[in-house]
Amino acid sequence: MTTDEFFRPKARAPRGFVDRRAPALVAERKILDAVAAVYESFGFERLETGAFEYADALGKFLPDADRPNDGVFALQDDDEQWIALRYDLTAPLARFAAEHWDILAKPFRRYAFGPVWRNEKPGPGRYREFMQCDADTVGSERPEADAEIIAMAVQGYAAAGLPAGACTLKINNRKLLDGLLVAAGVVDSRQKLAVLRAVDKLDRLGLEGVTYLLGAGRKDESGAFTKGAELAAPAIQSVLAYLGAGGGGRQATLDRLAGVVGGSVEGDEGLAELDKIGEALTRLGVHEGQAMFEPSVVRGLEYYTGAVFEAEINLKTGEGGGFGAIGGGGRYDDLVARFTGQRTPATGFSFGVSRLAAALAASGAAAKSARGPVVVLALDNAQMGEYFAMASELRAAGIAAEVYLGTSGMRPQMKYADRRGAPAAVIVGGDELAAGTVTIKDLDLGRQLAAGVGDNRAWREDRPGQITAPRADFVAAVRRIVESGPNET
Ligand code: AMP
Repeated sequence: MTTDEFFRPKARAPRGFVDRRAPALVAERKILDAVAAVYESFGFERLETGAFEYADALGKFLPDADRPNDGVFALQDDDEQWIALRYDLTAPLARFAAEHWDILAKPFRRYAFGPVWRNEKPGPGRYREFMQCDADTVGSERPEADAEIIAMAVQGYAAAGLPAGACTLKINNRKLLDGLLVAAGVVDSRQKLAVLRAVDKLDRLGLEGVTYLLGAGRKDESGAFTKGAELAAPAIQSVLAYLGAGGGGRQATLDRLAGVVGGSVEGDEGLAELDKIGEALTRLGVHEGQAMFEPSVVRGLEYYTGAVFEAEINLKTGEGGGFGAIGGGGRYDDLVARFTGQRTPATGFSFGVSRLAAALAASGAAAKSARGPVVVLALDNAQMGEYFAMASELRAAGIAAEVYLGTSGMRPQMKYADRRGAPAAVIVGGDELAAGTVTIKDLDLGRQLAAGVGDNRAWREDRPGQITAPRADFVAAVRRIVESGPNET
């Protein structure tokens, strides 16, 4: 006997990894199907790459020798090469595009979905394994390609079930930030970073907090001090004017921004790109409330090279409400060049499917339970073959069905069927056998009456709760119950 026989591991999932049951998976599938349909309607083809990439293909998360798992889950293959689980779907796309560039129809338009893994500290809405769904266009430098990606995101959120007005795409351009830094006379790279960090905190700290961070620094509620960017007063004024330029429609925002960053090469380029994006969005039917220019959006500084997008949710979600961004993206013209040495324009958007699903669930917009199969009760051991035949007949008619496979009595079996979310239970006991009939119990009705939502009289009138049908017609009787479904009003 080894000591191992006495070892009982504690049953628990690793931190940041979530077990998900049918309702969550059904909700996720609905989101993915809806978003994929939108992407396909725009002509994007589906691509699937493997979970692992060579670590050097993942770029900024390259494992260093001391902490090879920092940021990603990496392991050394038997050929000594480091491979790592993908942390997003963009790095694998850049690798794929570089590897197969010659044979692709260009610009290459692809969408992809699947789990990604990040080895970081988990928290609320922050998992170490989560689902993303991306669309990217590789090989087009046209701002219209950005506009199209934004329009697909807007349509995707609506198709996924977010109520109108629940989500806003905020659009900015890295070049405007560069133009701002030029206009404000910031040249030192540390100071630049401090300014961009301060701008990024507008959401959380408001204009006053950001003003401190642009100047000497800011003390937070706990008394901790964050050193500021130490800009001179006129430079601070420029940044504040820049931050105040949002709101009031896309064109109005551009006009105000022109007053702050116009004149610098970067600023003018950024403005011209946003102007084209705005025009294309209008022609694509994306209105101002769905996608707006917001100069405070700062994303992935070392990553994005032009337009950046962020999807913000404005649902009333009860406590807290903060899910963070439910998606984001932008233009990343340098990613494919890592492999080929050739600058390749690319733009894309990533749906944070897991966060979107959590937000939909919290808002009550998602289904709360998944429907189970029809359950055929096992009441008479001698009739197991008949029960199996009945379940097969139901399945052949397109109705999910199972025979209860435990050994409990009738009441626990009914309870089981109820907990499975079965729409109906099929009962064949001694009486039914003798009479050549089948009793079918409407469990949707029972559940809804118990929950007090079955008060709709018109809906209840045709629902006797339980019916008895001849054995030969039982499938049709089950179908009537299954198809009448739970009352959704
Ligand atoms: P990113 O790839 O970092 O630009 O993220 C794109 C989207 O993925 C974000 O807007 C989030 O919705 C989602 N996301 C990022 N990190 C996490 C995480 N740790 N857990 C769940 N969702 C995440």
